[in-house]
Amino acid sequence: MQFKDGVKVNEGGGMFLKLEDGETVMGVFRGEPREYDIHYIQGKGYIDCVSGCVHCTDGVKQSFRFRVNFVVKVNGALTPKIFENGVLIYNAMKELNKDYPLESTLVKLTRTGLKKDTVYSVLPVPPSKYDPKELAARLSDVQLLPLESKKAVQEESFPEQVPFDEQNPF
Ligand SMILES: [Zn+2]
Repeated sequence: MQFKDGVKVNEGGGMFLKLEDGETVMGVFRGEPREYDIHYIQGKGYIDCVSGCVHCTDGVKQSFRFRVNFVVKVNGALTPKIFENGVLIYNAMKELNKDYPLESTLVKLTRTGLKKDTVYSVLPVPPSKYDPKELAARLSDVQLLPLESKKAVQEESFPEQVPFDEQNPF
């Protein structure tokens, strides 16, 4: 019997949206984002910054992170995933939200690059390409995920491939 080395437990990993370099997925951001700070601790990985944080006391740099539900179509069903990312895409989404209320706007989320060079972009899909009313009705049935779930952060650590329906997804 042969077993592979280095297989890691991805606690709740399937809940997190993971894109490969160059991959685009369409979906809708739903609910309120959850903002928090993390520290990178050598040998331990990423740790949430909490009140009375010892790592802050030690002077370890904080990084802004946020999570938000992103509803995508997986095998024909609208499925919530947790999208976790940093300040650049957060601010871009904040701007976009002024003209395109994100909770009712179908967007294209694209990942470009690997590891620290990873950049995400969010672009609205023109409302003429789908039926916003039908979308809103279908989205109202989707139960969102709790954003306090453990894990995620590393951009490259989830080999799991989710079969998104990229063509005509909604
Ligand atoms: Zn801290």
